[in-house]
Amino acid sequence: MTGALESLPQVSGPAAYAASDAASRGRRFEEGRPSYRSEFQRDRDRIIHSAAFRRLEYKTQVFVNHEGDLFRTRLTHSIEVAQIGRSIARALGLNEDLTEAIALAHDLGHTPFGHAGQDALNECMKDYDGFEHNLQSLRVVDQLEAKYADFPGLNLTFETREGILKHCSMAHARELGEVGERFIKKQQPSLEAQLTNLADEIAYNNHDVDDGLRAGLIHIDELREIRLFNDQYEAVCRRYPDLADRRTIHETIRRMINLLVVDLVETSQSNIRAANPASIDAVRHLEHPLIGFSEGVREANLELKRFLRTHLYRHYRVHRMSAKAKRVIKELFAAFMEDPRLLPPEHQDHTRLLEADQGLSGRARAVADYIAGMTDRYAIAENRRIFDPATTS
Ligand code: MG
Repeated sequence: MTGALESLPQVSGPAAYAASDAASRGRRFEEGRPSYRSEFQRDRDRIIHSAAFRRLEYKTQVFVNHEGDLFRTRLTHSIEVAQIGRSIARALGLNEDLTEAIALAHDLGHTPFGHAGQDALNECMKDYDGFEHNLQSLRVVDQLEAKYADFPGLNLTFETREGILKHCSMAHARELGEVGERFIKKQQPSLEAQLTNLADEIAYNNHDVDDGLRAGLIHIDELREIRLFNDQYEAVCRRYPDLADRRTIHETIRRMINLLVVDLVETSQSNIRAANPASIDAVRHLEHPLIGFSEGVREANLELKRFLRTHLYRHYRVHRMSAKAKRVIKELFAAFMEDPRLLPPEHQDHTRLLEADQGLSGRARAVADYIAGMTDRYAIAENRRIFDPATTS
């Protein structure tokens, strides 16, 4: 078996187009170099020590936190994204520490109750510039994590912030300064940011298949109509005909993830070779992203996404939970907007500050900050505390 290893593709060292401390655009507030760590390791460490990161444990994407202990939370999802991202980064000679920092921070701005929560809060904020989880993630690391003596937020490097801000509107891009510029100039983010975005997609599509099957919301028979799943499933069944169901599912999913990762690495390698960027700035000036799947795999992946949308995300049981979640968020928003004195004291202070500066919009933003920071279970409990006379406040 040892001989086989020599023919496998080798991991490359740091590439000229990778992010590096030397090529970093730095932090918003100047700081000394860290001892024994890279700049991006320091970013990663600050993210792990943030309160917003700890809250990811009790926030969900599709399922609500109390539905079962085996479902993914945003915390385990973020760790899966970091794992997949680091593998890809290493294979492409990119910066693993930056990739990990972006992966661990990418969901920090998410509301409770996944997409339902984000939609509800965005509707509540429609007269006040809206709510967008990407922008909120940036807001968390730039402002809301107020704990360091010398600066607001976590004072992360430009590269980590660039990776967190996956998309944003033109109007917001103009307000965001340097980190918003690429949306105006139609430039690309670093390769680390590009790959983390796709690692996110690989992670959630595959774990939603796993969680959806576990919850009994989707079924193997339906999934077998999806090429990406069926090819791997048949291969597993052929090779291990007597394997227990759960192991067959896991073996299928791990092969799907591997297929996507290997295709992404190989396609991106050939894109990078063709474009041959000399630096991270050369990557930013390219017309198209370089990290991507081959055409066939991109199509197969789209087919899986469409399947999940119709069979899982729109499943009536998921929809019932989403409808409840939206009600919880909208009720909380309306109550705090009408009477900010219902807010806990530190959030009243935050509200007063923003309101003094921006009027009612400021009040709405502060209320949105408070709600977005809640975990699923905290939002449910807070709703009860505000609306149920029999519950102690
Ligand atoms: Mg994600």
